[in-house]
Amino acid sequence: MHDDRTLVEARLKRVLEERIRPAVYPESVPLTVSVWTAPGEPVPVAEGLAAPRSPIAVGDAWGAPWSTSWLTVAGTVPEAWAGRTVEALIDLGFDANMPGFQCEGLVYRPDGSPVKGLNPQNQWVRIAAPAVGGEPVLLHVEAAANPVILDYHPFLPTELGDKETAGDKPQYRLARMDLAVFDETVWQLVLDLEVLGELMAELPADGARRWELLRAVERALDAIDLQDVNGTAAAARSCLVEVLAAPAAPSAHRIGAIGHAHIDSAWLWPLRETVRKVARTAANMTALLEDEPDFLYTMSQAQQFAWIKEHRPEVYARVKKAVADGRFVPAGGMWVESDTNMPSSEAMARQFVHGKRFFLAEFGIENEEAWLPDTFGFTGGLPQIIRNAGSKWLLTQKISWSQINKFPHHTFLWEGIDGTRIFTHFPPVDTYNCSMKGSEIAHAARNFKDKGVARHSLAPTGWGDGGGGTTREMVGKAARLRDLEGSATVRWQRPAEFFAEAEAEYPKPPVWVGELYLELHRATLTSQARTKQGNRRSENLLREAELWCATAALRTGLAYPYERLDRIWKTVLLHQFHDILPGSSIAWVHREAEATYAGLAAELEELIGAAQRALAGDPAGGRELVFNGAPHGRSAVPAGGAAVAVAGPGDCAVTAREGGGFVLDNGLLRVVVDGDGLVVSAVDAASGREAVAPGTRANLLQLHPDFPNMWDAWDVDQFYRNTVTDLVAADEVAVHAEGPAEVAVRVARSFGSSTVTQTLTLRAGSGRLDIDTEVDWHEAEKFLKLAFPLDVHTERYAAETQFGHQFRPTHTNTSWDAAKFEACNHRFVHLAEPGWGVALVTPSTYGHDVTRAVRGEDGGTTTTVRFSLLRAPRFPDPRTDQGRHRFRHALVPGAEIGDAVREGYAVGLPERRVTGSAEAVRPLVELDQDALVVSAVKLADDGSGDLVVRVYESGGGRARGRLATSFALAAAVPCDLLERPWDGTRGEVVVDGDGVRLALRPFELVTLRLTPAR
Ligand SMILES: [Zn+2]
Repeated sequence: MHDDRTLVEARLKRVLEERIRPAVYPESVPLTVSVWTAPGEPVPVAEGLAAPRSPIAVGDAWGAPWSTSWLTVAGTVPEAWAGRTVEALIDLGFDANMPGFQCEGLVYRPDGSPVKGLNPQNQWVRIAAPAVGGEPVLLHVEAAANPVILDYHPFLPTELGDKETAGDKPQYRLARMDLAVFDETVWQLVLDLEVLGELMAELPADGARRWELLRAVERALDAIDLQDVNGTAAAARSCLVEVLAAPAAPSAHRIGAIGHAHIDSAWLWPLRETVRKVARTAANMTALLEDEPDFLYTMSQAQQFAWIKEHRPEVYARVKKAVADGRFVPAGGMWVESDTNMPSSEAMARQFVHGKRFFLAEFGIENEEAWLPDTFGFTGGLPQIIRNAGSKWLLTQKISWSQINKFPHHTFLWEGIDGTRIFTHFPPVDTYNCSMKGSEIAHAARNFKDKGVARHSLAPTGWGDGGGGTTREMVGKAARLRDLEGSATVRWQRPAEFFAEAEAEYPKPPVWVGELYLELHRATLTSQARTKQGNRRSENLLREAELWCATAALRTGLAYPYERLDRIWKTVLLHQFHDILPGSSIAWVHREAEATYAGLAAELEELIGAAQRALAGDPAGGRELVFNGAPHGRSAVPAGGAAVAVAGPGDCAVTAREGGGFVLDNGLLRVVVDGDGLVVSAVDAASGREAVAPGTRANLLQLHPDFPNMWDAWDVDQFYRNTVTDLVAADEVAVHAEGPAEVAVRVARSFGSSTVTQTLTLRAGSGRLDIDTEVDWHEAEKFLKLAFPLDVHTERYAAETQFGHQFRPTHTNTSWDAAKFEACNHRFVHLAEPGWGVALVTPSTYGHDVTRAVRGEDGGTTTTVRFSLLRAPRFPDPRTDQGRHRFRHALVPGAEIGDAVREGYAVGLPERRVTGSAEAVRPLVELDQDALVVSAVKLADDGSGDLVVRVYESGGGRARGRLATSFALAAAVPCDLLERPWDGTRGEVVVDGDGVRLALRPFELVTLRLTPAR
């Protein structure tokens, strides 16, 4: 037989497009439309409904950027349509190719009750089925003119990303506004033909099934009278019944589909718009659940539920009912889908605490899966946190975005730094916006790496980000794919059911050890430095606030600020969302974030101050007490306590260096700064070893061009390193401080349109060279690095992550090693030869790179660590990071890993001085083993007055120690992160008088609930 496939396939395409799809709505009449535009920010629903309208017509422009227009559409069902299905078609001016990312609407009835959302792929509103002739139609639409930021030519700088710069040019034109007859038979025929046509294209050309589909499609097309599609659609459908009924092969891949809309909590829109995006999508999805009995939907991010609850209670009532029916499924158990690289140990833990607690309180549901489809990489610390939160599974899709290496598994056990293993699934459909296209379903089946031993995968299905979620068309296609020859099977499935089934069928999955590094978006560790510093400052202040408020509560009876801390934590957690903390949102989001962080800092300082004043007692006492919020004692002040300040003698000296520059010495560390203000030597007195690589200079600022191929705020591409300018010319190198307690050298430089001032400080009794860098940054598309070439020969280095550290190679042997050319640390990077090492610590620089070089003198190697200070991408915020910044870093020669941990905490948690009458403040808890580190001291969230203390092993070894309480201890119980008694702690926890003996394995964390004797 002759091969006529292309002919029939082209015929199907044209007839579908030009004749069949238009026949879904065979008759229509125009609606009359009127409008009111809110003068500024969105108004409450009642106000929008009541506002006076003026006329507007199809074709008219509307919608200044970020404005809200309230449209009223009115009409009458024609008498001739009695008994038929009637829908309103409301096209706000959508581009159907861009679901999400543009204008959207929420439809209300005159009484203010929500109907459904309007989105580019979802423009219909059911009026009646069957309709009554002469029935009046009156609907209101809250239409948001969100401008398109990510356009067809993506990543072009735009001023539309902030209402302060966006101007007032209308962004859209009203398109179709009709009342129309909906022909369900034609609509079903469209789906039949789409499913079969798309499946056909995926089947091998030499297989019989492909030809059977082709001939059936041809018969259906023959059966259609192109002048009377509505009259012949049923006949065409009957030609397809047989091929649609043929069952899937027994070995077919099995897809659990779950309705979903991945809604970024802020990104190319401000937080306030996400509140409405979520409400529109939830309105759509609760309506679809009512229409489609097999359909199931999942929504993640407790914050988004909380927003609906607060701002759209009518929608929330529908959500609550659908959750109770088991069909609207809360997923993930986190407050938001956060970044996981940068949040601190405690913040990562609290994401789960607040997320899970919300779902438990609101719905009585405890999630056991972590749901992070879009997060930019996953730390080795995360598995233990997931397990300690009472969860056991992880879903993400993002690693499929990696530029270089293809991940070898889709279902596997992921092992964290402490050994915890989490059953993990990467949907092989490679998208979290599956739309049930044949190409997607076939890709999932072909792409699945675990064929032969596993058969199930998950497909999150629906348009995200204001695209409206799952459509009725997707549901219709899924029904046809349930059991169809030639295709993977599809059925709606809750995430937990999917995981249980996938785990049961795969008893010995492969194991992946260590972080899940995303080989993309590496610059999110650096972009929007002020947002990152705001986050880290908030995390540190929260640690102190909880510690001192708990101490004051137990010691002085001061009321513990449960509600304020709860609210502040939730705000910090929200801003760890995977487009806020990573710096990839529009200017508006980052401008607001800075202001929010400033407000939180003021509030937390107030809480800390009040607690410390209560502990210090009457200021008339005149004693200056030093409070130490760090987990290690310093200058005779115990960790978590306070002592009267004692000024040490101090033996710091600064002398001029021959040939220019200065020598700083405090007996522990001798640092030589040359005439260019660069560090040419740093010798640790205890070992006599030089930290700086021979022939090199440390504290070197380096400037690279930085114009990635795409995703400007997100990406730095490897070629940035090909060109570099060393910023060696100094405007000034001068002594800044020369007391016995502290010596410092100040270095000023200028480059491009920017200036930088650095202060290098050595303090008495400290083996740390502190480097304070102030930059006034006015560059575009540049990358600023701070380099430390170190005389250390090593194949790997340690970078701090949550509850421990992870190792990465210093070489590029394999493509996997080479891909990690920019990586994350929390507070330190540590590298060592046996017996001697160097730490670089920082309170808030996350991005860094580590490379090796030949050691000039003897052919060995040296290691260079570079911190990533600033970038200047121009999309999505055209002025990213412009202006003043302050960074702190420190070089610690001779540091063991324990020193790195200690100094890392110390630089972010400075001592505080308060005048009072107390002689000292004894810490609530004290540990006698340095490797055991307290990550939180707080009162239990349940208000019982119990003390909650979280401890982890920080060195990567086994550690025994005793946690002594300074109060009479009635009971001590190991808990999970939600502060519930938990027997999952495998380490030894034994109550021993007023204390607890602990024996923890490497990086193990344990949460203790300590009940004081009353
Ligand atoms: Zn996202």
